[in-house]
Amino acid sequence: MRLAMLGGTFDPVHLGHLRSAVELHEALALDRVHLIPAKAPPLRGEPSVAPSQRLALLRLGIGDTPGLVADDRELSRVGPSYSADTLASLREEWGDGARLVMALGHDAFLRLAEWHSPQRLFELAHLVVVDRPDHQAALPAALRELIAGRESEDVESLMARPAGGLLRLRLPSRMAISATALRERLADGRSIRYLLPEAVERHIIANGLYRPDRDCT
Ligand code: ATP
Repeated sequence: MRLAMLGGTFDPVHLGHLRSAVELHEALALDRVHLIPAKAPPLRGEPSVAPSQRLALLRLGIGDTPGLVADDRELSRVGPSYSADTLASLREEWGDGARLVMALGHDAFLRLAEWHSPQRLFELAHLVVVDRPDHQAALPAALRELIAGRESEDVESLMARPAGGLLRLRLPSRMAISATALRERLADGRSIRYLLPEAVERHIIANGLYRPDRDCT
């Protein structure tokens, strides 16, 4: 079994997330990619809309896409959403032999050394870092130390073990789309068309989400 988690705020989900998940599924020959919204992301402010709304948007965005799963396991947990706990629950479900991947974008990767027990992430999973055209910066020293000796050259050498490696990937359709830019556009009443699935756009508009005059938390 090969599976990946792509955790995030998904505030809201957009084509950068969804297309990356599809291309990861293909590039790593995964059985499935779990997209997992965080209830209370530890390293950022309160999301703009409630977890149940972000999950509903994610479900609409995924629709019937093969291999992609909207996974709500962090929403029922009490306290902060630590990825290590999420990986531990996936590992328990799928066993020691499963190839487990935590996928994340380059922006999130840059802050990895600040996460809760970052070493434990590598005990539980491989890390696969996806390049983002809108985020390019050098790795901080603490991060370079954390990943020293872990980097794999290709998918097959990464997948030779169940966990512990790091692979940096440039996926074919890199997209300069961020949820921050979408929230700004919605707050200003500008178009978000073609930046996220139509069903997600319809739900946002119909429910007045991300409008400055509405409190959706
Ligand atoms: P925000 O702008 O609110 O920080 P975001 O667009 O970065 O949000 P998140 O929900 O924080 O979205 O991201 C979840 C995961 O998806 C992170 O690992 C992030 O790096 C990755 N990701 C987000 N957008 C893209 C994109 N356009 N291409 C590749 N990866 C992405």
